[in-house]
Amino acid sequence: MEKLSRIVQEFVLIEGACAAGIVTTETLEGGPPSSDLTYVLPGAKSAVSFAVAIDPKTIPPYLTKKDRLSYEQEYLRVSALASGIAFHLSNYLDQKGYPSVPVADNCVYRLESSGGLYDYAPDIAHRYLAVRSGVGYMGLSGNIITKDHGAAIILAAAVTTAGLVPTGPLPSEENYCDNCRLCMASCVSGFMHPKEKIHISLGNYEFEYSKRRHYGRCDCVCSGYTGLHSSGKWSTWSPGRYKVPESDDEINAEQARMIDRHAQWPEAPGGRYFILTDDKLRSSCGHCQIICCPDKNERKARYRMLTESGVAVQNPDGTIEAVSSEAAEKILKSMPADRRILYENLE
Ligand code: SF4
Ligand code: SF4
Repeated sequence: MEKLSRIVQEFVLIEGACAAGIVTTETLEGGPPSSDLTYVLPGAKSAVSFAVAIDPKTIPPYLTKKDRLSYEQEYLRVSALASGIAFHLSNYLDQKGYPSVPVADNCVYRLESSGGLYDYAPDIAHRYLAVRSGVGYMGLSGNIITKDHGAAIILAAAVTTAGLVPTGPLPSEENYCDNCRLCMASCVSGFMHPKEKIHISLGNYEFEYSKRRHYGRCDCVCSGYTGLHSSGKWSTWSPGRYKVPESDDEINAEQARMIDRHAQWPEAPGGRYFILTDDKLRSSCGHCQIICCPDKNERKARYRMLTESGVAVQNPDGTIEAVSSEAAEKILKSMPADRRILYENLE
């Protein structure tokens, strides 16, 4: 098993991963339900967790609102690559006589959860596997952060009945997360709780990160339905200006309204399909992930790029551009009411 454990980590690195590790049912013991490997494979004993890096060249043009599509295409490429590597590795292990399954990078949910899809309960939460196996550290954001690529990575895994040899977590004193809170400052949805933290235990190791509020908060913004910061001075790439409700209890109803209005926007370039709606969604945020890089000066610079990037507005032909907050106000006010209401609630 030692030889196979070495090979499977090298396997994913050869195919494009930037970091890899191994967890077992023992090293995940005591973890949250979404760290249960047997949910995806009865009889599972271990999993190979790995990260694939997003090309950092696509990040500044995205944050400055010069170029949205290049980042979206890179995100989709890396996402498909990560899931593809998981598929290849599980085939490899399967044919060696160890039944295995790939775990896609994202967008697979536990449909039996009481709120169905709206609970956003993943089959497997990759970050638990990644932090416990040493792929990366846990950031305050709750994202996995890596020493070379920060949080600009995509995680995937292959779960297997092979009893692979586990790898350990990275030394916590080397975690570059310095509580800068730029992940929170760049989030317009209030998804990360500013004060409360979650503590989890995975096989006798403790990890903590900011408590997550209603997952629909992130979906309202990350799916591109809305994105104006409360200051009114900057936004995500979304031209939507709906307020994300203060109370988590109001999120589902407001999100349903946003989805309905978004469906009436003119078609913008790019986009991809997501299970909650038949409309294409466009990468609009991801700030907590792409702002968090190891170099603090670069992190601050990326935050500045975002907060000085202006406000997104949509043209009648569907294209989206950034303008000053004052110009955006004027554009909205000049719209006929039946068009303006597609982007903001009118008093
Ligand atoms: S942005 Fe700052 S606080 Fe947030 S995870 Fe990264 S380093 Fe930690
Ligand atoms: S993706 Fe955007 S909306 Fe979602 S938590 Fe991160 S910063 Fe907030």
